[in-house]
Amino acid sequence: MNASATRFVLVETSHPGNIGGVARAMKTMGLARLHLVAPKSFPHPEASQRAAGADDLLRGAVCHDRLTDAVADCRLVIGTTARQRTIEWPLLTPAEAARRLCTEGRNGPVAIVFGRERNGLTNSEVDLCHAMVRIPTDSGYSSLNLASAAQVLAYEIRLADGREEDPRQTVPAAANGDAMGLFYRHLQQTLYDLDFVKTQHPPVKLMRKLMRLFNRARPSEEELSILRGILAAAQAAVRHKP
Ligand code: SAH
Repeated sequence: MNASATRFVLVETSHPGNIGGVARAMKTMGLARLHLVAPKSFPHPEASQRAAGADDLLRGAVCHDRLTDAVADCRLVIGTTARQRTIEWPLLTPAEAARRLCTEGRNGPVAIVFGRERNGLTNSEVDLCHAMVRIPTDSGYSSLNLASAAQVLAYEIRLADGREEDPRQTVPAAANGDAMGLFYRHLQQTLYDLDFVKTQHPPVKLMRKLMRLFNRARPSEEELSILRGILAAAQAAVRHKP
């Protein structure tokens, strides 16, 4: 197992102190890969203060403009949420999420994504996730501080990392975020070419449903190239229609 492959991604964090708190939470559990998506203020003295001895993680933090870039090379992306969402989305316990991150981390980078302090992750950010994890809480107050949530998950990853591997958990390597992004663009273009979509504006709701379907299936690169071959054949068939 390989906990160090797990990347902690913080999306648009408002309070620099929380970034430091997450760095400290990670370092105590032996994790080092911190990625930040458009942080409000970073670097910042408050981040370094809260990081205590973990400022090496802050120095090594990778900044991105968008979540898509932060998870482009990841084969498994798990989002965190304080909410009991109504959408049909696989919801994992922290222990289940940690086990999947550790198992699939052997095939390459994997990520766990944390939302904004005020309002979590947007729908289109959740679309990039294969599953969500919720830390069980009191039903009357479910929202942990960002760094506290990161601590719970970092701890679970540490426990999972020490456990024996379950051979039934081994999965073929799924395609990464970049490859999935290209597939979704190709799929959307094909839907236009086939006249399945006729509107001028992008079919956001339809694409969200299709993304959920394919994110559940976790296709490998080989399976994706078969699917893209089918899309290309469909496009060619409409092009050559008399
Ligand atoms: N009101 C926001 C709460 C954001 S708390 C919302 O409805 O989502 C900031 C972040 O901390 C969340 O986006 C999530 O990443 C993490 N977090 C807080 N409580 C959590 C919980 N119970 N389970 C998992 N993550 C949690």
